[in-house]
Amino acid sequence: MNLDLTESQQQWQAAAIAFARAKLSADMIARDRDEQFSLEGWRQCAEFGVQSMPIPKEYGGLALGITEVIAVMEGLGYGCRDQGLLFSINAHLWTNSIPILLHGDAAQRQRYLPGLGNGTLIGANAASEPEAGSDVFALRTRAERRGDRYVLNGAKMFVTNAQVADLIVAYATIDPALGPMGITAFIIERGTPGLVIGKPLEKMGLRTSPMAEVIFDDCEIPAANRLGREGRGVAVFECSMEWERGCILASCLGVMRRQLESCLDHARQRRQFGAPIGKFQAVAHRIVDMSVRLDTGRFLVYRIGWLKERNQPALRESAMAKLYVSEAFTQSCIDAVRLHGGYGYMTEMQIERDLRDAMASTLYSGTSDIQRNIIAKCLGI
Ligand SMILES: Cc1cc2nc3c(=O)[nH]c(=O)nc-3n(C[C@H](O)[C@H](O)[C@H](O)COP(=O)(O)OP(=O)(O)OC[C@H]3O[C@@H](n4cnc5c(N)ncnc54)[C@H](O)[C@@H]3O)c2cc1C
Repeated sequence: MNLDLTESQQQWQAAAIAFARAKLSADMIARDRDEQFSLEGWRQCAEFGVQSMPIPKEYGGLALGITEVIAVMEGLGYGCRDQGLLFSINAHLWTNSIPILLHGDAAQRQRYLPGLGNGTLIGANAASEPEAGSDVFALRTRAERRGDRYVLNGAKMFVTNAQVADLIVAYATIDPALGPMGITAFIIERGTPGLVIGKPLEKMGLRTSPMAEVIFDDCEIPAANRLGREGRGVAVFECSMEWERGCILASCLGVMRRQLESCLDHARQRRQFGAPIGKFQAVAHRIVDMSVRLDTGRFLVYRIGWLKERNQPALRESAMAKLYVSEAFTQSCIDAVRLHGGYGYMTEMQIERDLRDAMASTLYSGTSDIQRNIIAKCLGI
């Protein structure tokens, strides 16, 4: 397995870094405080091609390979201070565009993929419910077939992008007695009667990424908007999770790289007791650990690209990458705050925000405990 980026992958990454630095990072302290999603940033990303990266050419996409996509996301994480925007794009790509691409029928792909790729449509994913989080397949939202329509009733929790979404991929059961075999996926368009965007949710981090509850109140959708077969929603969900767990952390790697560089600078420049603090072993070791975590995380994330490009399953590897990188990222953020002392705790330095953003990565797409459960199952225990 060769982890060196090809020339083309390096070029994509360098372009992403330059673009993100120039266009995406302004006013972050105020936007984070005010929970402002940047629609302008979303459009700029679409112009660059971010939302169209994995979309095939026939739908107007760039049709990049997964390793290119990972390289671009890593570059965006490195150059962009707005992790909320990148998180919104990740949610859109992996839990909306990819399931529609891989499980949608020809009409659905034709209708939605061009807009999802060029950024005119924003996607969201509604799986979690107040009583079904880690145990997501215990969901209670009902879908009842009535002729050529389905009627959905239920409540969804933690829906990223809900307030700005044009399309929601939602999961409901046609019969709770069927357990996971009753779960079915649907594509629900903004403005559908009975689709209610509920209370916006204020978050600790990723505050520039909007999130709300979603309620289906006799929400009637055409049967043509069922995504995949009836009772096959688990396959749609698992496929989107495998992609998300594999790719969403690529942007976190970029942040870890930027963080490492700024910690090195600080350790060289900040002097205490007559010496640069990097000369104190406790400080140097902290930076060494950050560096080891970054290299290990890169290996785990790029391994997924390598496997998927060879059409090999990556369930265990995606769970490992998700578990390791999210925990490593959070630990490195704590170390970065410590290393900067009191200054690291101040909003102005823009170091504490990374820690708040990083905590979310240990929760979304399945908590670290759930990733451990998946890996244990893969190991046969
Ligand atoms: C920033 C963010 C964005 C999100 N975006 C979306 C989205 O767009 N769409 C969506 O549908 N959901 C989204 N989620 C929801 C997310 O998927 C859930 O929060 C997550 O799956 C955990 O569910 P829960 O919050 O109900 O916690 P719970 O399931 O109640 O878990 C509570 C604790 O118990 C532990 N636990 C539970 N079961 C087990 C077990 N079997 N073994 C070991 N430990 C266990 C968990 O690890 C956790 O520590 C988002 C969450 C966050 C934080």
